[in-house]
Amino acid sequence: MRRKIVAGNWKMNLDYITGVGLFSEIVNMVNDEVIGDQEIIVCPPYVHLSAISQLAKSHRNVSVGAQNCHQADSGAFTGEVSASMLQSIGVEYVIIGHSERRQYFAESDSLLAEKVNSVLKNQLNPIFCIGETLDERNQNSHFEVIKRQLSDGLFHLEEGEFERVILAYEPVWAIGTGLTATPEQAQEIHEFIREEVENKYGSDIAQNISILYGGSCNPKNAAELFAKPDIDGGLIGGASLKSRDFVDIIKSFGK
Ligand code: PEP
Repeated sequence: MRRKIVAGNWKMNLDYITGVGLFSEIVNMVNDEVIGDQEIIVCPPYVHLSAISQLAKSHRNVSVGAQNCHQADSGAFTGEVSASMLQSIGVEYVIIGHSERRQYFAESDSLLAEKVNSVLKNQLNPIFCIGETLDERNQNSHFEVIKRQLSDGLFHLEEGEFERVILAYEPVWAIGTGLTATPEQAQEIHEFIREEVENKYGSDIAQNISILYGGSCNPKNAAELFAKPDIDGGLIGGASLKSRDFVDIIKSFGK
């Protein structure tokens, strides 16, 4: 069944105490205010994950994700963290292929495919990000870019593996810029993504996969975006650092 999901990507923000405090605030507000079957995923920095995973255990619809992982299970990779380590502390999701990883850490589609494999092998679920840059959109190559990111990063998976992926369409030009794709622009790409998935894996899988929108999503624009038929929720950056904004976004379904 297609799930409604709001995931928060805290990026490299908040010290440990502030992060644990924000998470507690979010879960308290969710308990008091959120009715419905939305799933909430919070993705803090690595150092917060162990404590926040413990806190999340007592909340039915709140899970924890990491923002990245290494593709190997262990080894001489100084400074890196593996999917198996994340799994061992109760993390359930890992963001893979965020545009900041692609851009600042030169993560290629083939490396991302290896990371996805490692995440799935370790019983975690990838939140796989795809999206075009402004130049690519201006050159009208955005459909081609999305198609390549899907096929090179994900379409090697078996059906049973692919079903565990959450997709996030994040136009790079809308991330952290205050520019949001219009609901129509976002819907057009989400529909295209679902068609590509259908061509590869068939209509049952395409209808059941969740596709999130990310890029300057906030409490003012979330309801209109989430009302579109192929938008199943959001991957939220800046607004996930404010409990009020994040919970208001979670409450935007069906408004
Ligand atoms: C993101 O980084 O995934 C994101 C969507 O950021 P923002 O909401 O700040 O644009």
